[in-house]
Amino acid sequence: MIPGASGPCPCGGVPEGVPLSACCGPYLAGESWPPTPEAVMRSRYTAYVVRDEDHLFRTWHPTTRPAEVEVDPSLTWTGLDVLEAGGNDDEGIVEFAAHWTSGEGAVRQRGAVRERSRFTRRAGRWFYLDAVRSGD
Ligand SMILES: [Zn+2]
Repeated sequence: MIPGASGPCPCGGVPEGVPLSACCGPYLAGESWPPTPEAVMRSRYTAYVVRDEDHLFRTWHPTTRPAEVEVDPSLTWTGLDVLEAGGNDDEGIVEFAAHWTSGEGAVRQRGAVRERSRFTRRAGRWFYLDAVRSGD
């Protein structure tokens, strides 16, 4: 059981406010595979929030993933906006902005990573392939 499973999903959820246990939770637990590129993207965002490096590794395409996935512990992820989701049966595109904060007090900073991520289908499952960063 993931801590906070009954609370709202960190990804914001579809519909908004849906609990983690009914959104990205089963994907992070390995109980099911996210059915769409957007669902993969949301589950990966949630994995960054809860620092589930295994899920990030698992959903990353074998041809592009690093040998080891490490989540930067200095960033706190505070919200996700999915700006666009599209594609066809084999390739998907999800554009999003992921908001973060770091530090405390006077050195507290905030920002957002905006990315257009590409997803590809392999053996019936969607994987994150790579991303084009479109500014901070
Ligand atoms: Zn979610």
